Amino acid sequence: MCGIVGYIGSSNARNIIIEGLKKLEYRGYDSAGITLYNLSSNLFNIYKDIGRVSTLSKTTHNILSNIGIGHTRWATHGKVNAVNAHPHQSSSGRFIIVHNGVIENFKQLKNQYLKNHIFISETDTEVIAHLIDSFSTIMDVEKSIVSTLNLLQGSYALLSIDNKDPNTIYAAKNKPPLIIGKDEEGVTITSDILALAGYAKTYHVLADKTFVVSKKDSVKLYDYDLNELQVQFDEFNFDIKSSEKGIFEHFMLKEIHEQPTVIRRIMKKYIHDSSININQSLLNDLKKSSRIYILAAGTSMHAGIVGKKIIEDLIKKPVEAHIASEFAYNTPLIDPNAFFILISQSGEIADLRTCLTKLKNKIIKH
Ligand code: GLU
Repeated sequence: MCGIVGYIGSSNARNIIIEGLKKLEYRGYDSAGITLYNLSSNLFNIYKDIGRVSTLSKTTHNILSNIGIGHTRWATHGKVNAVNAHPHQSSSGRFIIVHNGVIENFKQLKNQYLKNHIFISETDTEVIAHLIDSFSTIMDVEKSIVSTLNLLQGSYALLSIDNKDPNTIYAAKNKPPLIIGKDEEGVTITSDILALAGYAKTYHVLADKTFVVSKKDSVKLYDYDLNELQVQFDEFNFDIKSSEKGIFEHFMLKEIHEQPTVIRRIMKKYIHDSSININQSLLNDLKKSSRIYILAAGTSMHAGIVGKKIIEDLIKKPVEAHIASEFAYNTPLIDPNAFFILISQSGEIADLRTCLTKLKNKIIKH
């Protein structure tokens, strides 16, 4: 799952999107693209190619637009090439979309609903644009999008633009993150909070299966039956410096050097006058538990293995460290009094998320 940034407002959309996509480069990607409104043709132009955001930045440097959506792709379906890069467009050209994630039933949707549509890419994503387009011949845009969303199985964070209406961005998500930021100038919608730094005074993290209709000065949220939802925006105070590489050549190097500061910050939070203060209900749950599971992946799994040793020595209870991807799809028998620690690097590791959903369902059922 890679990066998404969309903007609508009175500022230069191209600058905000390109800058946002650059901030998300740390996640890795294989291609990048953007669509921006062209005031002379009254249509959205698409710029996309394999390679870096800096190339995209050069191709679009003189374009002024107040609305646009951009994407960095990490290919899951189809080769890494310019055609498969996002944004994707419906066959009539009306709808343009960017998508993070995987549409698991895209083949079935193609066969069932889109037999006469010509697909130009190999992606699962393109099916979304065609479906919206095909529904839009018999219903309004909002209904066309939610009808499409109701058919999708899998994971998605997506933004859509309608060539007939350069004043609206539509968004929806299921599983991968999507966050809305607002200030007096406009609205930014992104898959990663880093891209909001500098462009948001308030923000809202979208829940799964939420549909968004955003104008430059209004953001409305709906469920997939088009019932309007209440939305609360929280104050955005994000330390922009922590999102930049600073004097370091790589983010990894920066994070290694930050370790002593981070440990000091954690100790300061929990240790007061040489006593350790930890949430009492958490401690009670830990005391009641018969076994502790640590679920993690990659580097956090290494931390988990170290944690297992330390926790077993300290509290004399058995601790198991599991790789989240194994645990999610091959869940062992779980002790009913188990205590779980899930360690995520970025907060959006799909396997850990699956573990958490499975565990919560189990707990609710019992
Ligand atoms: N599944 C889509 C593709 O292969 C999106 C990949 C992504 O999340 O970047 O194009």
